[in-house]
Amino acid sequence: MSQNFVIAQPATVAVPVRGGGRFPVRRVYCVGRNYAEHAREMGHDPDREPPFFFMKPTDAIVTSGANVPYPPLTQNLHHEVELVVAIGTGGADIAAADAERHIYGYAVGLDLTRRDLQQDLRKAGRPWEMGKGFDHSAPIGEIVPAATAGNPTNAAITLTVNGETRQSATIADMTWSVGEIIAALSTYIALAPGDLIFTGTPAGVSAVVRGDRLEGAVAGIGTVSVRIA
Ligand code: MN
Repeated sequence: MSQNFVIAQPATVAVPVRGGGRFPVRRVYCVGRNYAEHAREMGHDPDREPPFFFMKPTDAIVTSGANVPYPPLTQNLHHEVELVVAIGTGGADIAAADAERHIYGYAVGLDLTRRDLQQDLRKAGRPWEMGKGFDHSAPIGEIVPAATAGNPTNAAITLTVNGETRQSATIADMTWSVGEIIAALSTYIALAPGDLIFTGTPAGVSAVVRGDRLEGAVAGIGTVSVRIA
């Protein structure tokens, strides 16, 4: 009221934190092709080219346990389970060796993807944003403070659909480590408290349909669970 906004103020997006409180989200960054086997299944040569980044709208965040409506304009909705890093302290040009002190915590996320749209847009040389940054495209589980989680450098990362394993790898399979990702991303933009970074998905991505129950997990971090409605 007192702020004189001319329309209703958009809600603050926040993610529950294990142990209490909520993490307010500023921006959502994502890393492309950060596991060699996934790069191969997408038809790319995993030659350790520098990491590249894209974004999702902050309000694409969905908290774990929710229903995700099957999105419009796709026949090929894919799951991508990912370790998510929550930034607690910002900065630009962060050195990989200093990255850890910028991390508030970790979570498990799903980078839901309209694969058909993404691939059509890419072929046309257009931004693939509408294949990635749609409503409800970023489910995420509880954030675990780094102080309790430690640094999940070698944790198992898995995804099941209706109880059947589709993705299974370890964080050690990442082409670029969390520290290297933070270093590279912070050369493009200044990171700030509230930023989330989805760190890429291992091989095994596949299509889901209405009624499917997706559960992503990173050992020692937690889970994210949604149903496609
Ligand atoms: Mn992804």
